[in-house]
Amino acid sequence: MLDIRWIRENEEQVQRAADQKGIALSIAELLAWDDERRRLLQKAEALRQTRNRLSQEIGRSMAAGNTQEAERLKTQAQAAADRLPPIEHERAEAENRYTELLMLVPNVVSPDTPAGTSDRDNVEIKRVGEAPSFPFEPKDHAALGELHSLLDLPRGVKTAGTRNYYLTGTGAMLHRAVQQLAVDLLVKRGFRLLEVPLMVRTEALLGTGFFPLGADQTFKIAGEDKWLVGTSEVPLVAYYSGQSVDVREPIRLAAASLCFRSEIGSAGRDVHGLYRVHQFAKVEQVVICKADPELAEMLLQEITANAEELLQLLELPYRVVAVCMGDMSQKTYKQLDIETWMPSRQAYGETHSSSNLLDFQARRAGIRYRDEQGKLRYCYTLNNTAVASPRILIPLLENHQLEDGSIRIPETLRPYMNGMERLLP
Ligand code: AMP
Repeated sequence: MLDIRWIRENEEQVQRAADQKGIALSIAELLAWDDERRRLLQKAEALRQTRNRLSQEIGRSMAAGNTQEAERLKTQAQAAADRLPPIEHERAEAENRYTELLMLVPNVVSPDTPAGTSDRDNVEIKRVGEAPSFPFEPKDHAALGELHSLLDLPRGVKTAGTRNYYLTGTGAMLHRAVQQLAVDLLVKRGFRLLEVPLMVRTEALLGTGFFPLGADQTFKIAGEDKWLVGTSEVPLVAYYSGQSVDVREPIRLAAASLCFRSEIGSAGRDVHGLYRVHQFAKVEQVVICKADPELAEMLLQEITANAEELLQLLELPYRVVAVCMGDMSQKTYKQLDIETWMPSRQAYGETHSSSNLLDFQARRAGIRYRDEQGKLRYCYTLNNTAVASPRILIPLLENHQLEDGSIRIPETLRPYMNGMERLLP
């Protein structure tokens, strides 16, 4: 959320951000509703004052025995009281409409964000590692998974419908191993690990900027004001909602959690294998810091580097891209994605998403700190994936396959796999 005064002073810039992010919103309309709700508030306040003044005057007239005057004033007071409910009603409507529009206002984007309308316009910043060239016909992850009994897609669909899967035996172990490797890395880097609620209230999703725009991506718990989270960013940030926090040192939080996504709007896309599923596991990094743009940029680089380190430990080739305006979410100020080489796609596929939100999310969630002058200010927040599985199993299995059909397990993963060096068919 942006401050309404700031929006008023920077109307053009905010309208441009909405247009660039593809959010249908008129800032002029928002400001008009802001004017209207203020006008009605003043009107209601003036009527209340008139009513109160008249009732005092009625009391004085009665005390002075001037019943005629008292009756006249009573009629006036009643007229003022009668006008109040419709104005209050109008004011409540204006307030609702204003809030609805305010919740759609996007964060502005950083000056170094590339222009563009979709992920095709993202700009590569760097490439690390070489895409392998196989002296044999490589298999894709679904075929490898079947060959090694690592996953069972048909039974996933039988039990839970499309975009569902079972990971079986060593496949399930690999899934847990990559997560534990990521958790250990983050704990070593000073992140505090939290086990978080995965069914959260609407308020937590509104406060973290996922609602209202992301509501159609979110599974609702029937009969309750609760939803399944699409990322642990929600409960991690909401942990501090409505609080004043100590950010002399940035707060670094991590969680390993399941994530649930309806994936509405992606019908027909990535239907093969494990790329786009309804339920997956993600180790997430969240950082909360003081409102210092330079510090936030450093932290964005830090959480991106953590994800890069993980990929280097997994010996996977990847690239970092600057995400363009049109591919950014409402709340994001600057975003870097990491894409890992996926041989079956002959392309890099997104595996990590690193974002700096400035104070957009903290303003919405009400997370503040006291600055050196003792003034309460909204924090800045950032987040990035450390690892998301099973998507990461795609490059892991595909890049490390060998001619004899076996799959090499990178050294750093072996301690998490009972020392296993290779998967043999
Ligand atoms: P996001 O939280 O949307 O930035 O996504 C972070 C990471 O989670 C992505 O880069 C993917 O690795 C993974 N991910 C997101 N959505 C899905 C999905 N539907 N299926 C599998 N993995 C996903």
